[in-house]
Amino acid sequence: MNNFGIAIHGGAGTIVRKKLTPKLEKEYRAVLRQSIVSGYDILKVGGSSLDAVQSAIVVMEDSELFNAGKGAVFTHDETNEMDCSIMCGKTLECGAGTLLRHVKNPIIFARTVMEKSEHVLLASDGAEQFAKLHNLEIVDPKYFHTKRRWFQLQVVKEKETETETTRAILDHDGDNSKHGTVGAVALDKNGNLAAATSSGGMTNKRYNRIGDTPMIGAGTYADNRTCAVSTTGHGEYFMRLVTAKDVSDLMSYKNMSLKDASNEAIKKLSAIDGSGGLIAIDKNGNITMPMNTPGMYRASFSNGKQEPLVKIFVEE
Ligand code: ASP
Repeated sequence: MNNFGIAIHGGAGTIVRKKLTPKLEKEYRAVLRQSIVSGYDILKVGGSSLDAVQSAIVVMEDSELFNAGKGAVFTHDETNEMDCSIMCGKTLECGAGTLLRHVKNPIIFARTVMEKSEHVLLASDGAEQFAKLHNLEIVDPKYFHTKRRWFQLQVVKEKETETETTRAILDHDGDNSKHGTVGAVALDKNGNLAAATSSGGMTNKRYNRIGDTPMIGAGTYADNRTCAVSTTGHGEYFMRLVTAKDVSDLMSYKNMSLKDASNEAIKKLSAIDGSGGLIAIDKNGNITMPMNTPGMYRASFSNGKQEPLVKIFVEE
């Protein structure tokens, strides 16, 4: 049987045991499990890697826990602006969206751009016009207003005029508000790779800031000759390094293994003081999930395994 497998992430950041309550940890692990199983089940019956990554991401977008879809963080102006992208490793076709404010599942939007338009990246009002034309689910912005993200915005805003008390609150939840993008990479039984990423960006972002998530090559990349990659962390650094494509290039130009190429990309991130992680799968089904942060919500499931591996902390 051909190898197949899937890996997902739900964001990297200052996720440490003493700050994550057992209840919340359990909730994260349950949704990560649900997400990876939904993608794996598609691959198991011969479905495509594109369908698998989309399905896994929709589960996380529909959960309040992750900074994507329903749980997207707030901008400085108290709106939600979402970024997304998807890429097919067989054809190198891709689709992406940014500044989405009403699309319930941004990843479905990215897939629709890839398959139903001649473009790669659509933004803002025009993007939402395109979404309506293709009958994607449109929701009132209130759908994205969750208490937790609202609180994070207030804390982060207060941090701008920081006091000792706000520093303590920030320490608890605020740091993690900067991270939480979701992503998935998969290899199907036909040897096709796919990668996808979806994000609310960073709390308190202003001036229509756009992150690495909708940037093909920075946040997402897939090529059947090498690997599929999805990144998460401080987007500006991933954009400077074009990290997802860098992993693929290190494999093709330097003949590195998936693991070595991914570790090298994270080393480059650390060298310019960027923080985050990535998930990657190669054409043989090897999976790696390196990070330079204390944690990254993540999971993997390959053929031959009975159960998915679900992890949060770096030392797991
Ligand atoms: N990379 C995302 C961004 O900068 C945020 C994240 O991954 O947490 O928009």
